[in-house]
Amino acid sequence: MSHAKTSELLNEVTRLRRRVGELEQEHRRIDSAEKPVTRGPVGGASYQTGRDHSLLDALPCAVCECDLSGEILFANTTFAELHGYPQVELKGRHYADLIADHQDHDASRQLLEQLADGQLSSHCQETVHRRQDGKRIPVEVKWRSQRDGSGAVSGLLAVTTERRTDKSSRGQEADLAGQYFNLVREMILVVDADEKVSLINQQGCRLMGGEEAEILGKNWFDNFLPADNREEVRIFFHQFMEQGAVQPVEYYENDVLTVDGTVKRIAWHFSILQDESGTNIGTLNVAVDITERLEEQQTLRESRQIFHQISEHVHEMLWVSSADLRKIFYVSPKYEEFWGQPCQSIYDDPTIWIERIHPDDLESLMESMNQKIQGDFSSTHFPQFRVVHPDGSFRWLEARSFPVYNEQHQVTRMVGIVEDITQRKQDEAAILKENELLEERVRQRTTQLARKTAQLKALFQGLPDQVLVINHEGEIVNFNGRHREYLFSNRDLSSGSKLKELLLEEIRLPFTEAIQRVQADRKRASFEYPLTVDGQQRWCRARVQPYLQDEILIIVEDISEQKMSEIELNKTHDKLSEAQRLAHIGSWEWDVADDSLWWSEEVFRIFDLPSDTFRPTYPSFLETIHPEDRGLLERVVEQSILNDLPYSIEHRIIRPDGEVRYVHERGAVKKDTRGNVISMHGTVQDITERQMASSKMQEYRDILAHASRLAIMGELTAGISHELNQPLTAMANYSSAMKTRMEQGQDVSDLVQRIEALSHRSGNIVRRLKSMAEKRPQELMRFNILDSIRSTLQLIEYELRQKKIDVQMAGESRMSVVYADRVQIEQVLSNLFINAMDAMSEMPVSRRLTIEVAPAGEFMVRVTVSDNGPGVPDDFVGQLFTPFTTSKQGGLGIGLSLSRSLVEASGGKICYSPKSDSGASFDVFLPCRKMDE
Ligand code: ADP
Repeated sequence: MSHAKTSELLNEVTRLRRRVGELEQEHRRIDSAEKPVTRGPVGGASYQTGRDHSLLDALPCAVCECDLSGEILFANTTFAELHGYPQVELKGRHYADLIADHQDHDASRQLLEQLADGQLSSHCQETVHRRQDGKRIPVEVKWRSQRDGSGAVSGLLAVTTERRTDKSSRGQEADLAGQYFNLVREMILVVDADEKVSLINQQGCRLMGGEEAEILGKNWFDNFLPADNREEVRIFFHQFMEQGAVQPVEYYENDVLTVDGTVKRIAWHFSILQDESGTNIGTLNVAVDITERLEEQQTLRESRQIFHQISEHVHEMLWVSSADLRKIFYVSPKYEEFWGQPCQSIYDDPTIWIERIHPDDLESLMESMNQKIQGDFSSTHFPQFRVVHPDGSFRWLEARSFPVYNEQHQVTRMVGIVEDITQRKQDEAAILKENELLEERVRQRTTQLARKTAQLKALFQGLPDQVLVINHEGEIVNFNGRHREYLFSNRDLSSGSKLKELLLEEIRLPFTEAIQRVQADRKRASFEYPLTVDGQQRWCRARVQPYLQDEILIIVEDISEQKMSEIELNKTHDKLSEAQRLAHIGSWEWDVADDSLWWSEEVFRIFDLPSDTFRPTYPSFLETIHPEDRGLLERVVEQSILNDLPYSIEHRIIRPDGEVRYVHERGAVKKDTRGNVISMHGTVQDITERQMASSKMQEYRDILAHASRLAIMGELTAGISHELNQPLTAMANYSSAMKTRMEQGQDVSDLVQRIEALSHRSGNIVRRLKSMAEKRPQELMRFNILDSIRSTLQLIEYELRQKKIDVQMAGESRMSVVYADRVQIEQVLSNLFINAMDAMSEMPVSRRLTIEVAPAGEFMVRVTVSDNGPGVPDDFVGQLFTPFTTSKQGGLGIGLSLSRSLVEASGGKICYSPKSDSGASFDVFLPCRKMDE
């Protein structure tokens, strides 16, 4: 490579480097648009001024960039130093201002216009520039117009060199080229047409990983291209060589093999080198290692894909905007859902989202946005806001934003997240409400608790018992002021004292044991103890129980009164038992539901059953009942339960040894508040003795009655004999008459009839007398009382006639059937009739015996026997029925008392009632049916 070519080469290199810059920019832009990486030649990239000023700055030659009007856009350091200006002051000046001689100004302006409108593509001029300090510098300026992709001129570039002598300039130029080659950050490589490397700079050696000597002169393709693309590139290279024309700057990417064998990805820009005859002699290549960049791009692409995947699938909306939030670069599809507007609408109009913000939330949101625009990123959050949809519905959203910085720590982007917090807001509102309710309840509860605590405290202090709380070490934690004397010898108590040390000597042991037991199994213990306090016998009950974690509660209660009552009760119980034993009355209680029967001791005694082994139940009780009485008892109990009526019944029982006893059983039903029978209770009384006495009495009464009847018969002998004599005499008379008639052959049948009637009459009298004289036990039967009255009157008919007593009888036969002992009742009637006759015997005229029969209620028949005698003196009435009381001479005075006894034995009663006029009246009430009918 000759020196003459160096400055051209330099120019070419500069141009290529610029093109590298442009294409890389372009490449990045394409990458960022997510287009696949282009392989092979790339054309049509537009030149963008000011993008690679650092590169121009590094150039050892003075370079300045102007726009089409000639205004300086950029001047590199060398240019600024050459002209003695600070670099920034040159920017904005017109190039013509640097021309020293006024007359050259117009020529310069003209030249620039020609370059700008494309008449010239390059030009070299020699002129004199003026430094800032006024010094003149002769310079050579090489102008080149810059074109964009469409071929239009887009800018002007001037390379300015201070003019020196030719020789020194040449040498310097060569040095500069060398320096320049080695200074640039790209690899500069010249491959000759014979495929050999003829030039490589230091950067190139670094990139290829070898010394210059290891690379220079070597076949590029054989040594430094990987086998898989070697031939392809070689063909490509030779196509260029053979085409023979200088091609525009080309871009190419391929892999190279470095000296140490690693493969690197290289981006190439090259142009064809020609000799003076126009023959292609090789390629000038400017290359950069893009291995790392490709990896970065791949990572970037992956990151971008991940970003998109995430942003489109998360519940939040993601957005990317400019630092001033005025331009939206990206919103995730959630925008449509959140705002109800298509995503495209916000790209078209970046402020459209504001329309849907709730007016109440807009101001605070904007304020927060302004803070961030002004660089205050102290908070990532925006205030929560509402987005109102056209249908009136709204959602609560929460946004956060994060600044994105470039290497100069300038904010280049804002990225953000918008989260739908409607549900959270609703939940928060619900929770808030719940919380308010809870707080209200807590407040109420706290008040209640405070009241309860105060009550408890008052209760604790007001308890009638001594209450102590001790801890696990036996120290008194709390106490009230009651009955300390029941526990302590020293009555001064204080918290923290050891209970054991203060306890009375005699109760220390039971307390210590109880506390130990409670501590061991956390179950309550209770014991009672007697104590003499102030000379008085007292009883206490101590309860020891677990309390709050490991504390123990001790309650000492004065149970003296209860104890006394118990003792008293025991005594009463003993007395009751004794009373029951003496009266032969036992008590019982029968729980109907579970059929458990409780008997007092006396019941067991009455039934002669062992109280310790026999368990009474209703069925076992029924077993003891005499079989003849069992049915009756069951019926009575059933009726009692059914009608809720008490019952009273006498029945027999059979003791285990077979002895029959008589008992009087009383019972009543107990019901609960709902009317269900819960139990029966009652008494059972052994009445065997009484029953025996009663039957003995009956026996005696029968004997007496018999004796009395005999006495009555004695009294009535005259009458009876008259009664008997009369029919017998008549019968004798009829018989004689019959005999005469028969002798005369006359009919005697009427006489036979009369005799028959008379014999019946006398037979009846004899039968009645016989029954009166008969000694017989009581016999109850149904009979008509009117018949009894008539036959009794027949017995005294003679006396009635003798004494001229008029008998009046009234009563209906239908209503006069009674159930009683007929003989005994007739005896009673005889008594009453005889007494009436006796009473009236002294009366001068109209003696009248009245007998009236009438029903008395549903169950009784009343027989009233009255006379018009003198009646019973008032002072005698009370003794009428007293035995052996008589006003008669020779009277026994047992008639009325025996009558009462006989009437009552038949279930009736007899009483005296004075008449309003003179005379006496006796009422006899008799049952008209059997008792249990
Ligand atoms: P006794 O007839 O043997 O005296 P009672 O017991 O039958 O015994 O009568 C007792 C007494 O009651 C009679 O003595 C008589 O004074 C009085 N008494 C009984 N019935 C009548 C009567 N109907 N009118 C007046 N006094 C009577």
